[in-house]
Amino acid sequence: MKLLLAEDDAPIARAILRAFEREGLQTTWVTRGDAADEALRAAPFDLAVLDVGLPSLDGIEVLRRLRARRSRIPVLLLTARDEVQDRVLGLDAGADDYLVKPFDMLELEARVRALLRRGQPPAATPSVLRMGRLTQHEGEEAVRLDGELLDLSPREAGVLAVLLRRTGRVVSKSIVLQELASSDSSAMDLSDSTVEVIVHRLRRKLEGNGIEISTVRGFGYLLRSANA
Ligand code: CA
Repeated sequence: MKLLLAEDDAPIARAILRAFEREGLQTTWVTRGDAADEALRAAPFDLAVLDVGLPSLDGIEVLRRLRARRSRIPVLLLTARDEVQDRVLGLDAGADDYLVKPFDMLELEARVRALLRRGQPPAATPSVLRMGRLTQHEGEEAVRLDGELLDLSPREAGVLAVLLRRTGRVVSKSIVLQELASSDSSAMDLSDSTVEVIVHRLRRKLEGNGIEISTVRGFGYLLRSANA
């Protein structure tokens, strides 16, 4: 486990380093905000302990920049006083926890252990929608056939995803349009006939792969295995 400690008070920093060493944690120590920012950009850390009152950039600004880069590593802030404003700013900026100085070293160790446990990625794989040879990973627009990306336009992928989410059920054109519009507001102006055109193109692209979009007259579409 790699930790970053940003603390400009040397005696406090040394005490923390000794405590982390006892825990078997590998810690990089910096004394300035800009150095913390640089270190966090340069290398992956499992956790950062940031003092709020740091020279050059304060700990909250370092944290803001970290979260702006979409880093989700756990961050514990150290604040000099129990100032509500610091706490609120810190939590708003994306801190996971904070400690008010002076704090008990055992308390810090316990909080850090808890954060590191929480930071472990879940063992489960991301949820996947599956139908025959088609898959779509959660949070991904693209649909895959046997794990390979299908060459689809965003609209085609969108319509296929709507059908995939309802595999085995008949989906009306108005549901398709409604679902498309919920993630893409420009789809609001699409008509039933556009859905027909997109489905027509999807059928051609899926042809021969054991996947079929059948039309249920008067109701809508049904995605299913061609040989089922
Ligand atoms: Ca300080």
